[in-house]
Amino acid sequence: MIVEQLRSRGIHDERVLEAMASVQREAFVVESERPRAYADNALPIGLGQTISQPYMVARVSELARITANDVVLEVGLGSGYQAAVLSRLAKRVVAIELLPALAQRAATALRALGIDNVEVHTGDGSRGYEQGAPYDAIVVSAGAPRIPNTLVAQLAFGGRLVIPISAGEQHVLTRVERTAEGLVTTQHDPCMYVPLRRVGGWLPHD
Ligand code: SAH
Repeated sequence: MIVEQLRSRGIHDERVLEAMASVQREAFVVESERPRAYADNALPIGLGQTISQPYMVARVSELARITANDVVLEVGLGSGYQAAVLSRLAKRVVAIELLPALAQRAATALRALGIDNVEVHTGDGSRGYEQGAPYDAIVVSAGAPRIPNTLVAQLAFGGRLVIPISAGEQHVLTRVERTAEGLVTTQHDPCMYVPLRRVGGWLPHD
């Protein structure tokens, strides 16, 4: 996985590669998908949701440029796999998941691996998690129609938001950095995530 799916496709950040090597993806995959735990694609985790493709987990982690003292928010904990990789890179991860059954399963999987720096919350994270803000990085693991202002507002100075944004039928991985010159937005890989849901729906100005 590391050589064929990540290095060969341009993931060069050694800390990210180490983090990816240290987290067993099989621990976050449902029983029936276990034989495919290291497959080069997303896999179903139940309730219509998926565990992300390893390449996307690595790419998001690289784009977020996480350092050892960072506090990171993940919106869309799902299986817990992306959060586990982030937990190896950061000081602390705050993760929020809309579906209680998934949040519970992810918390159990993280605990089983001895990962104790991920704080799990259940609820709608499309507007972030104000109580833990500001964050050095925010990773959104579900696709949004546009960049939510409330998430940008929860970035620390120098902070990075990485989020898949709708582009026709697909998403494009987008990074927003809060810099001294203001917000810098760049577009990266095309991708396909499950939708970021918003309780009450998305309003035109959201
Ligand atoms: N990071 C996960 C990917 C899970 S798929 C992994 O590595 O497995 C995206 C997840 O986002 C789903 O579990 C879905 O329930 C969740 N989600 C969708 N909208 C959400 C919202 N508004 N707040 C929190 N979680 C949300």
